[in-house]
Amino acid sequence: MRSLLELKNLKAILIATNNPGKLKEIRELLPKKIKVYKPQDFNINEPKENGKTFKDNAKIKSLYCAKRSKIVSISDDSGLEVKYLDNQPGIYSARWAGKKKDFSIAIEKIKKKLLSKNKQSSPANFTCCISIAFPSGKSFEFLGKVFGKVSFPPRGQKGFGYDPIFISTGKTKTFAELKPSIKNKISHRYQAFKKIKKYFKFN
Ligand code: IMP
Repeated sequence: MRSLLELKNLKAILIATNNPGKLKEIRELLPKKIKVYKPQDFNINEPKENGKTFKDNAKIKSLYCAKRSKIVSISDDSGLEVKYLDNQPGIYSARWAGKKKDFSIAIEKIKKKLLSKNKQSSPANFTCCISIAFPSGKSFEFLGKVFGKVSFPPRGQKGFGYDPIFISTGKTKTFAELKPSIKNKISHRYQAFKKIKKYFKFN
């Protein structure tokens, strides 16, 4: 398979992530009839994300999985860009939470860095690059963004990662307070997915 048009006949896909929050959101975007696999189903470990952009890293992950599993693989590289922190943590969003992936640590880090600049909040955006890779070695990348601000204290129990501090423009609730069905219609992941939706067969 080398063309996105062939996705219309797709029976199975590997979602190239070990992040349960992302896995759930990507699953919900795909047609229900497509069988979904995880990297563990093929005993695939995580590749080194040594790219310099969301696009580089998304491509590394999807190609790594497609080559090993020999099935079409979809990945997402995403993160939070905080304007007053020169767009940090960006591609390092997962790494700011440390080995234990504790996002209360990453959120506290953002708060402290903003306070050291005498800021209580900041304009921010989530960015997502979705990559679809074929076992042949060809891949396609699509970018999506959602704009808003980061706000403290963190609020809400839903979602994952930085959701408790992100409020998208026009909303008063954080992503972690919104119903998943609402977040999933405005998120950076959805904005990226909108660009590939037409290649899948939904019914
Ligand atoms: P990576 O793409 O696996 O490098 O990780 C991206 C990180 O960005 C995630 O672990 C989250 O911390 C954060 N992130 C990406 N998308 C979202 C989202 O929709 N909500 C909250 N945090 C997110």
